[in-house]
Amino acid sequence: MNIESLKETFQCPKCKGKHPLITEHAIPRSGPGKIPLPILDRYLFFSCSLCGYTETYNLKIIERAEEKVTKPVAQEVRHRGG
Ligand SMILES: [Zn+2]
Repeated sequence: MNIESLKETFQCPKCKGKHPLITEHAIPRSGPGKIPLPILDRYLFFSCSLCGYTETYNLKIIERAEEKVTKPVAQEVRHRGG
C-alpha cells in the first residue's frame, strides 16, 4: 500500500466522496510524564473534501510498506529435485 494508491482508492464512508485533501501531521508521542519526547509520530490525514470526514494513516507503516515494494526482488535459485 502506498500513498498514491490510498489516494486513488479513497472513498468517503460518509458521503462516498472520492476527493480527499491530504495533509501530513507530526504528533509528539506522549510519555508517562509531562515532558514532551522528541520523537514524533507522523500521520497522513485524508479529509473528504465534501464532508470533512477524516481518515488517518500511520506514515511509518505506509513508508515501510513502500520500502518493501521498491526494493528489487531477490533472485531465487531453485533446484528441482526429481
Ligand atoms: Zn465525505
